[in-house]
Amino acid sequence: MGKIMKLTINNVEVTIKSGMTVLEAAQSAGIYIPTLCADPDLEPYGACRLCVVEIDNMRGLPTACTTPAASGMVVRTETPAIHSVRRTALELLIADHNADCLVCGKNQNCELQKIAAYMGINELSFPKTTRKVAVDTSNPFFDVDRNKCILCARCVRTCNEITCVGAIDLANRGYNMKVATFGDGLLFDSICQSCGECMVRCPVGALSLKNCVTPDSEVETTCPYCGTGCSMILGVRDNRIVSVRGNRRGGANGGKLCVKGRFGISEFVHSPERLTTPLIRKDDKFEKASWDEALELIASKMAKYQPQEIGVVSSSRATNEANYVTQKFARAALGVNNVDNCARV
Ligand code: SF4
Ligand code: SF4
Ligand code: SF4
Repeated sequence: MGKIMKLTINNVEVTIKSGMTVLEAAQSAGIYIPTLCADPDLEPYGACRLCVVEIDNMRGLPTACTTPAASGMVVRTETPAIHSVRRTALELLIADHNADCLVCGKNQNCELQKIAAYMGINELSFPKTTRKVAVDTSNPFFDVDRNKCILCARCVRTCNEITCVGAIDLANRGYNMKVATFGDGLLFDSICQSCGECMVRCPVGALSLKNCVTPDSEVETTCPYCGTGCSMILGVRDNRIVSVRGNRRGGANGGKLCVKGRFGISEFVHSPERLTTPLIRKDDKFEKASWDEALELIASKMAKYQPQEIGVVSSSRATNEANYVTQKFARAALGVNNVDNCARV
């Protein structure tokens, strides 16, 4: 366990474990500091300059997200000097932001919206920029709208630090800076694996789901695709799965998901092509059969073989219980130890 230390934030004594940043110390005490580039899963970055604070005996206005908290520190998060710097940084972001909130996938979940409201921005001191670049719609699951990008680099850092793919980076400098793939091509043509981890961390609508539907209830479950056992939260509306998000409490995944779990659930669950009865091949055609018919057919075919001629392959997409019963069936009913499961790889 880390060393316990005390510091003062806004005249409140805060007790924390060593190793925390000033931002984390404030958050642990319920003190809000606005930020757009910080993410609890990513290394501190200090790009958006919104989390600036005042710290006794420290020059200027350091960023809370990159400053390690220290014992005895005296921190202030709301002063006229801080407001002035924050407001300028935020107004510059908004001036270069193509806001279209009502038709934006992040409406109501947008961190820029929330901070603009928190800061009471109702007019800008800077002229709005007019650039308009084409939206990259090549990815089947989410769009890349650089007109809404605030260059926080959360997506780039996610792709490097979490997904370890490195499909995107910040290209160019100054006003021309943008999130780009290698060679500045479409995301779909890059090495992107469509995991969507960048999208869920984008604070604005620059990376947003193509078909965004708000669920009316949520259900916690385990991804059925592979043996990792990622915990996920399914959003449900009208008895249909309309959203999927990683569960941060999931021991196997800590909230992260791959492309299959994040984007591949709803379609197959609700597919009209799903099998609902066993099928038996007759004259090269599949015909619907009852479970009794199917099981009797399998049993009669298995009876023609010696136990050692039979192998049983189970599935990591089945539950632990189903896998347990399958190996038990092989060993106890068939009398063979030829048992395998794709989760082994
Ligand atoms: S990113 Fe946020 S501020 Fe921008 S259009 Fe979307 S909801 Fe509005
Ligand atoms: S979807 Fe995944 S692989 Fe693709 S850019 Fe985003 S984080 Fe990287
Ligand atoms: S696309 Fe989103 S996450 Fe990436 S830099 Fe732009 S605003 Fe940040």
